[in-house]
Amino acid sequence: MKEILLCKLGEIVLKGANRRYFEDTLCRNLRHRAKHFGTFEIKSSQSTITITPQDDFCDIDGLFQNIQTVFGIVAISRCAVCEKTMEAIERTVKDYVPQFLVGKKTFKVVAKRSDKRFVLDSMEIAREVGGYVLSTVRGIKVDVKNPEIVVQVEIREHNAFIHAGQFKGAGGMPVGTNGKALLLLSGGIDSPVAGYMIAKRGVQIEAVHFESFPYTSEMAREKVLELAREVSQYAGTFGVRIVSLTHIQELLVKNCEEDYFTLILRRYMMAIADRIAHDIGCGALITGESLGQVASQTMQAIGVTDPMSTLPVFRPCIGMDKEEIVQIARKIGTFETSIQPYEDCCTVFTPKHPRTKPELSKVEEQQRRLDFDALVQEALDGAYVEYIRPEF
Ligand code: ATP
Ligand code: MG
Repeated sequence: MKEILLCKLGEIVLKGANRRYFEDTLCRNLRHRAKHFGTFEIKSSQSTITITPQDDFCDIDGLFQNIQTVFGIVAISRCAVCEKTMEAIERTVKDYVPQFLVGKKTFKVVAKRSDKRFVLDSMEIAREVGGYVLSTVRGIKVDVKNPEIVVQVEIREHNAFIHAGQFKGAGGMPVGTNGKALLLLSGGIDSPVAGYMIAKRGVQIEAVHFESFPYTSEMAREKVLELAREVSQYAGTFGVRIVSLTHIQELLVKNCEEDYFTLILRRYMMAIADRIAHDIGCGALITGESLGQVASQTMQAIGVTDPMSTLPVFRPCIGMDKEEIVQIARKIGTFETSIQPYEDCCTVFTPKHPRTKPELSKVEEQQRRLDFDALVQEALDGAYVEYIRPEF
């Protein structure tokens, strides 16, 4: 039996004139994934994308699992395709549909005819197909008002489509339809979630990670690259720029008051990220900051670090509780990696009494003790990129 996948588009359908562009981008993103699972034809029509295997070697189960992380799709159905005759439909319903009804008590059939010349009308098709289901699946009942599952039969131009039930898609908008932004990716719980949330809005992600070798370890860097790989299951391929802050941190310790270490370090991070973002065409920065979570995330602390970026800074976790962030981290599969206990450059040389209500003039006075621009340039000169691809 021939099986295909039907993807229902989300918000894209609201996009009016841009709709074509959104659909094309989504098809392109899907093709990129699909090539790992065989040769498929992918095309869109009437707010639905159809994915059709082109030979017997295609791994449709694998692709079905995989596209549940593709943004822009709200629902996915597995769908049998058969000849447009009631005999073929009967055979297909009896062979194919029962697997989706396991554990279900009620169903209804909805039929659609785009070919109006078909021998039966929609009501008649639905009644016939309902009969096939009742005669094949024991104990199931029809409930037209509130069925647990809807069996759909569509009579299309060339074939009939038969599907039962929908699986949830990743939602959001297709990656690549909403610009590009640079994620400040640490090894913590919050920043991978922040990257996921902004990618979900159709933004292509790039990343920067700051380390402080040898105060931070090789293992800490590996952990961040693993997190990047996990985020890339949703966000697609991207690069992680690795930037060393070792020299800056050593100079800070020697020259500045301890209470200001973290704040000044974060100002360097924002300034360096801003430069990288401009270099690679990103229109915004993304951080995992959450208001009041730590000393450097009070309103005043964010107030002294934010101006170091000339670009908008997206902070999708800003109003979320830790528990809410953890919930998303678990859902997207980053949580277990994030809680591995490795040091971050923000946690080496942490002040005992960090400023929670810093004054900008004091911070600037401290910052002037070092040659800010030269150190930013030095950090940029030493940076390198690790390219990350989703693993299938
Ligand atoms: P996370 O759980 O994401 O690490 P956090 O609660 O530990 O966040 P901070 O360490 O204060 O918070 O960092 C706030 C944000 O700054 C992070 O979410 C991240 O976007 C960025 N950041 C912190 N450390 C680094 C780093 N080493 N490299 C890149 N970005 C970082
Ligand atoms: Mg952190």
